[in-house]
Amino acid sequence: MNTPTDWVDRVSRDAIVDVSKRLVSIPSVSGDELAVMTFVQEWLDERGIGYVVTANDPARPNVIATVGNPRSGPVIAMNGHLDTVPVSDASSWRTDPFEGVVNDEGTRLYGRGASDMKSSVGVMMTMLELFRDADLTGALQAHIVSDEEIGARFGTLHVLDEIAVGHLPRPDYVFIGEGSELKVRNAERGGLAINVTFLGKASHTAAARVTGINAIAKAAKGILALEEHLEQFHPSVGHPVISINMIEGGVAHNVVPGSCTISIDRRLIPGETKESVVADIVAKFDAIAAEDPDYRYELDVDPDGSYIAANITPEDSPLVQAFQESVRRVLGKEPEFFVQWAGMTDGRFYRQHNIDTVGMGPRGEGAHGANESIAIDDLVLEGKIYADTIARLLKAR
Ligand SMILES: [Zn+2]
Repeated sequence: MNTPTDWVDRVSRDAIVDVSKRLVSIPSVSGDELAVMTFVQEWLDERGIGYVVTANDPARPNVIATVGNPRSGPVIAMNGHLDTVPVSDASSWRTDPFEGVVNDEGTRLYGRGASDMKSSVGVMMTMLELFRDADLTGALQAHIVSDEEIGARFGTLHVLDEIAVGHLPRPDYVFIGEGSELKVRNAERGGLAINVTFLGKASHTAAARVTGINAIAKAAKGILALEEHLEQFHPSVGHPVISINMIEGGVAHNVVPGSCTISIDRRLIPGETKESVVADIVAKFDAIAAEDPDYRYELDVDPDGSYIAANITPEDSPLVQAFQESVRRVLGKEPEFFVQWAGMTDGRFYRQHNIDTVGMGPRGEGAHGANESIAIDDLVLEGKIYADTIARLLKAR
């Protein structure tokens, strides 16, 4: 009889490094994932691990691997993407970005995708091998996807479509292997775009103080009112964020601008809604308008329909509880939530389908930049935390 500790002790540093290095050494910039996905299939074949390939573009396949029987109990899916961003500054790299290189001390793996997030997929692949012959109540799956960096339409969103129509088992629990500093990431901020057009009155520059109303000046007041640290706080995800990221106005050097449009990117925390965020912004503009009779603006809320609410898997979910317990056991300290200035992951799509989802991954360096690398100790700890959580949730023997 194996206890969870036995599984943790069997996590193999060499196996993790070997597969992660090989994944990094196969270039797979978004749109070009076929070769790396072929390698994944060969690796699974060599180990007798079952899988299916699913794709809405055969050039961009996803591999769904399974150990155990999904009909015998809960299904865990570990999700990771194998596409990477391109290399734009190869001369700044100290190693070949498309070769996985371990430093002389054996402590770090370098290469494009080492941190975001091929090594974490490597950890997941070794979990399949670790539990391949275990007696599991339920099943352990990996959703190894090809398209995360530019929208997920060919990747996780396709996989969820296949789950919705019954072609793939619906997971009860999902792990997301994106970097989380080995902290439990049970929530993510939502996102809302708002365009605001400030309306002035065009005129000749000479008449700027007579008939003109300068829309850029009006926008400037609005920007200064909005651009600030937001104090609201949620224990799982931290503060909301507001940033004005685009501005457009004016037609000529000698014409007072009649309109100016800004684009606001607003990240929401649980408890905030589209309506509450819009109300906050309108209140700030109305305070300006109370002092300025010429202050006029129009809002275009969610112009491209991409709004997503903040999404959270509750703290009392068995998945969150299991991860917290595993962090206690493996790291020997009280688990923290990942309250960082972090962006979104594919975890939001699973949560939209009401699937309990936790992000748990290593600390990385240089994601999307030069000399991307990952601490190998972190990968081993990630593997141990995964093994402990899997063993408990699937009663591995
Ligand atoms: Zn990523």
